[in-house]
Amino acid sequence: MNVKMDLHTHTLASGHYTTDTLTDLAKRAKERGIAYLGITDHAPKMPGSASENYFRNLRYCDRRVHGVRILYGVELNALDQMGTVDLDESVLCHLDYALVSLHKQTYKPQDMRLNTLALTSAMENKFVVGVCHPDDPTYEIDVKTLAEKAKQTGTMLELSSVGVSPDGYREKCVERLVEMLLLCKQKGVYVMLGSDSHGISKIGDFTNSLKLLKALDFPQELVVNFNPEKFFEIVKNKRK
Ligand SMILES: [Zn+2]
Ligand SMILES: [Zn+2]
Repeated sequence: MNVKMDLHTHTLASGHYTTDTLTDLAKRAKERGIAYLGITDHAPKMPGSASENYFRNLRYCDRRVHGVRILYGVELNALDQMGTVDLDESVLCHLDYALVSLHKQTYKPQDMRLNTLALTSAMENKFVVGVCHPDDPTYEIDVKTLAEKAKQTGTMLELSSVGVSPDGYREKCVERLVEMLLLCKQKGVYVMLGSDSHGISKIGDFTNSLKLLKALDFPQELVVNFNPEKFFEIVKNKRK
């Protein structure tokens, strides 16, 4: 099966690592055989990223660029243990989807229980369909609680290309990813592949992620990137 979607990418609007535009990303996605490109620029609390109005206006942008279907999303910041994120529902309802993450610029690492609670509370948000890079070793995370919450709320967990690439920019915690994937397999939790490409360079690059999935004999039907319809169903079910 082919990977048809990249659901986690950044343009120059994120304010760091790249000056590539959405059009540049779409062109590269086309070259790499990606039919659905999810643009998930950092939400406003990330220093240097786009304003609330930027996200508010995305609904007026082109849905297809270089023949690639563009999905307008956002990578939200989990800000506390109460589920507070940095765009409210009046903006999120006009985006195609939202992901959530812990980032050191917006959330100081705390103990495992509180870090995990910050993510699980945000997963209750009906617009949040995925948790990004739960392997980030900056934060201790209770992966079992996270997987249970993912199952309960119909939220995806990300297998991030950065976490499995030897040259990725984040410190690695592959053991945690393996633990997470085994739990997802056992509980039937959906996984999304995200390149977290800032700019064009890593768009659609899932070589190492696919190797890991194969090594774990991970069921393909639980990976939404092979099946766009499943992704849209998850978005729709969560909003009910
Ligand atoms: Zn991130
Ligand atoms: Zn990201």
